[in-house]
Amino acid sequence: MGACEYLSWSRVQLYLRCPRAFWYRYIEQVPNSFTSSALVLGSAVHDLVGEHFGKLMTGEPTEDTPCAAEFIGACFDEADPAVKLGAKEDRGGLCNLGAAMVSALTGHDLLGDTWSVAGVEERVTGPLIDEAPPFVGYIDLMLVDDDGSLGVVDFKTTKSRWSSATLRENSGQLVLYEALLDATNTHRSFLTVTKAKAPKVQQLTVEGSEQARERLHEQVRHVWRGIESGTFPAHPGWGCGYCGYQDRCPHSSA
Ligand code: SF4
Repeated sequence: MGACEYLSWSRVQLYLRCPRAFWYRYIEQVPNSFTSSALVLGSAVHDLVGEHFGKLMTGEPTEDTPCAAEFIGACFDEADPAVKLGAKEDRGGLCNLGAAMVSALTGHDLLGDTWSVAGVEERVTGPLIDEAPPFVGYIDLMLVDDDGSLGVVDFKTTKSRWSSATLRENSGQLVLYEALLDATNTHRSFLTVTKAKAPKVQQLTVEGSEQARERLHEQVRHVWRGIESGTFPAHPGWGCGYCGYQDRCPHSSA
């Protein structure tokens, strides 16, 4: 499916980080020359944590979750194109790191006495603004309380603890999901975990408001105008080091 047929939060974020990378990926549809280790690690941690909450939802024993380090290792081995490790990274160390992150996330008391799991990796889709294609999103975790109120949670693996500025930068994702659910007053939160031997977990709430939705609409409107008009300037910088197009991009600073 091409970029003009649907949008997603990650597509919008890629356009904002580097429109040229967006062009390679979704317009030219050039394959990445490598898979970043951060992408594989983050995706494997998401899968394992999602499985844990899926078992809580269905009442299955959570102790049966597969060995996290082995599962993450298999994800590294099966990545296509092959994973490119950073200068200070090694496969075994990353597998252990990922296992510690899964343990920290699943050990966090996210549900408390209030919430039950209502869904894992829930697909939501719909239009956000009239002139752009519909959005497609996957909500990591949907919660419900005794009164029927909804909670929407997204897991994030991060280099360091989030500042208020980082929360602000990411909050549009949960505002978007709430809009796609056609809901208001959901409880929106990120559950972040740091990539460290002793990972730190943060549960951060995103405030919703009419102004937050308007800000999101405006941002998406400008991004869509850029895509539609063929505006794809390069944005070289630290992101080039993780970019799967660095070998072909004349602007790469990697
Ligand atoms: S190498 Fe850098 S400038 Fe080029 S597409 Fe990737 S992130 Fe953008």
